[in-house]
Amino acid sequence: MNRLVFFFFILISTVIYSKANRLHVHDKLVRLEPSTDEHIRYLQNLEQYTSLDFWTEIIGPNKPIDVHIKANEYDQYVSQFQEYSLPFSVLVDDLQKIIDDEQQQLAADYLIRQTKSLLLGQTKVDIVGTYASYDDIVTFIQDKAKADPTHINVINIGNSHEGRPINILSIQFNPSSTRNIWIDCGIHAREWITPATCVWMVDKLIQDYNNNEPAVVDLLNYWTVYIAPVLNPDGYQFTRTNDRLWRKNRRNNNYLGCYGVDLNRNYPIKWMTGGASNFACSETYGGSSAQSEIETQNVVNFLNAKKGTWDMYMSFHSYGQLWLLPYGYGNSFPPNYQKQVAAAQKGTDAIKVVNASRTYTIGTIANVLYIASGSTVDWAYDGLDIPYSATIELPPTQSGSSNGFILPPEQAPGVCHEAYVGMIAFLAEVKNEVSRTLNG
Ligand SMILES: [Zn+2]
Repeated sequence: MNRLVFFFFILISTVIYSKANRLHVHDKLVRLEPSTDEHIRYLQNLEQYTSLDFWTEIIGPNKPIDVHIKANEYDQYVSQFQEYSLPFSVLVDDLQKIIDDEQQQLAADYLIRQTKSLLLGQTKVDIVGTYASYDDIVTFIQDKAKADPTHINVINIGNSHEGRPINILSIQFNPSSTRNIWIDCGIHAREWITPATCVWMVDKLIQDYNNNEPAVVDLLNYWTVYIAPVLNPDGYQFTRTNDRLWRKNRRNNNYLGCYGVDLNRNYPIKWMTGGASNFACSETYGGSSAQSEIETQNVVNFLNAKKGTWDMYMSFHSYGQLWLLPYGYGNSFPPNYQKQVAAAQKGTDAIKVVNASRTYTIGTIANVLYIASGSTVDWAYDGLDIPYSATIELPPTQSGSSNGFILPPEQAPGVCHEAYVGMIAFLAEVKNEVSRTLNG
C-alpha cells in the first residue's frame, strides 16, 4: 500500500477518534506515598465518598497508590495532599496524550492487519492480539462456532443494561464430559488487555486442540470450557466511543448525574461489607443491592444452573501482576488455600519460563491488596463451591513507571501469550487435583 494512503488513514482515524474521546486533556496520573494511618484513613474516605479515580488499591502505609486526577481538580487535591503532608509525584502529566498515542498505534496496527487480510484473501481482519470492538469480538466467537458447530457454541446469557447480548463461548470436544470451567474478561470496562486475553485463549485453545497439543487435548477432553470475553459490554463500548477510562457498567444511578455500578462489587456474597462504596459516584459503587445489576444476574443465573459441575472460575483483570485468591471480604484463608496456591504457582512458574522478567505475586485479595467485598472470586468460591477460584491482574506491575490500564498495544500479544501459557500449566495442576478427589 502507498505510504501516503497509509498515513492519511491514520490521520483520519485519529481525527475521528479525537473528537469523540477527549475527556482527559491535562488529567494527571499521580503516585501517592502514604506513610501513616492518618494518610490511609484520608485516602479511604476519598475512595468511599468521592469520585476520585483510584487506579491501584489502598493497601496500607508505605505502599504507593496511583490515582487519576482530573485537570480541573488537580490544584484542589494538591493542596489537600500538602495539608496532610502526603508525598506525591506526577507519573503522567497528560493522560489524554497517552490515550491519543494508543489510538494512533491501534489505527496503524489495524491498517497492517487489514493489509495482511487483503493479501491473504480473507474477508475479515484478524483481531487476535489487539484491542477489538465488542461487535468484532462477538463476530470472532460466532465465526469459531460456525467453523466447528459440533464442538463450539455461542450462548447468549442475557442482555446488558443497554440491551447488548452478553455472548459467551462454550468449547466441548468431549461430548461425555460432565465437568466445567469458566473464564471471564472485561468486567471492568477500561481493562482492555483482558478481552484481548480471552480472545487469545479462545483462538489458541481451539488451534492447539486441533493440532493435537498434548497438554491442551488433555484439558479439553476433561472439561467443557466456557469463556466470556466481555462481561460488561456497555462499559467496554463506552470506553471505545466516549471515555477510555470508564470502569463500571452504564446504569443511570439517578444521583448527581452519576452513572455506573462496579460489577465486581455487586456479587451476592458478603455484599457491601467492606471495600465497596454505597456512594453512587464512587468508582467502587456496589449497587443498590446485591446482584442489582442485570450483568451480574446473567452470570449468577448461568453458573447457578450448572452448580456442582464447576471445577474452576477465573476472572481476568488489570493491572498489578497479581494472582489473587479468595477471600476478598475478610482476612481468613479458604480451607484449600495451600492447594490453590500450589496450582497458581505452576501458572506463575510457566509465565516466568516465557518471560523471566514477569513476576506475579500470589495471595488472597484481602492479604495482598485490601478488603474488597462482593467480588466474583468470593462468590464463585463460597456461593458456588468452586474449589479453584481466582483473579489474575495482568501487567503492568503496581510499582515502577507505567501507563496503568493503557497497556501499549504492541505489548498485548506478549501479555496474552504469557497468560495463556500460565493458564494451561495452572489448569493441568487443577485437573490433577480435582480428578484425584473425584476418583476418591
Ligand atoms: Zn478490574
